[in-house]
Amino acid sequence: MEIPAEQPRFFQVEPLEGESLSHFLGRFRRENYLTATQLGKLTGIGAVISRWEKFYLNPFPTPQELEALAAVVEVKVDRLIEMLPPKGVTMKPRPIRLCGACYQESPCHRVEWQFKDKLKCVSEAHPKDARHQLGLLTKCTNCETPFPIPADWVQGECPHCFLPFAKMARRQKRY
Ligand SMILES: [Zn+2]
Ligand SMILES: [Zn+2]
Repeated sequence: MEIPAEQPRFFQVEPLEGESLSHFLGRFRRENYLTATQLGKLTGIGAVISRWEKFYLNPFPTPQELEALAAVVEVKVDRLIEMLPPKGVTMKPRPIRLCGACYQESPCHRVEWQFKDKLKCVSEAHPKDARHQLGLLTKCTNCETPFPIPADWVQGECPHCFLPFAKMARRQKRY
C-alpha cells in the first residue's frame, strides 16, 4: 500500500516494561497533543480509544482495531497485546491500583495491577524480593482521593493534594 506524502507523522513513544495500554495511550497522546477523540479519528476506531483508556475491554480489542492503532503509534501489534490482560485473566477497571515502589523505579501504571485477583505487588523477575511484597494502593495515602485512569497520569502525583506516587510507597502494607 502506498503511503500518501501528506500522511501526518507522529512522535513515537517507547512502551515501558509492563506498561498498561491506558498509560501508554495517555503518553502517546500528550506527546502528540492529541485528545482521545482525535486519536480515535486518526486511527479510524473512534470512541474505542477512550473506552480502552478506562480499561473497558469488553468487547476485547480486535486484531483489526489493534492493527489500526499500531499503524499510528508505530508499535507492533504483539507489543500492544502485552499491554492488555493475557487470555483468561479478568481485568478490574476500578479502582485504579498503584504500587508506589514500582512507580519510583519505573514511572508507569502496570497492566498486572488491574488483574482481578491482584492485591499485592510481586515482581515476576524477583518473586522473593521483599521490596515488592507490598499491598497495592487504591487511593492517595494522604487525602484518600482515588487514582485517576492511567491515561491521565501526567505528573505522577495525586491530582488533589499533589503527593507524588513514589512517596506513597512508605505507606504500603508489607506482606
Ligand atoms: Zn511494586
Ligand atoms: Zn492526595
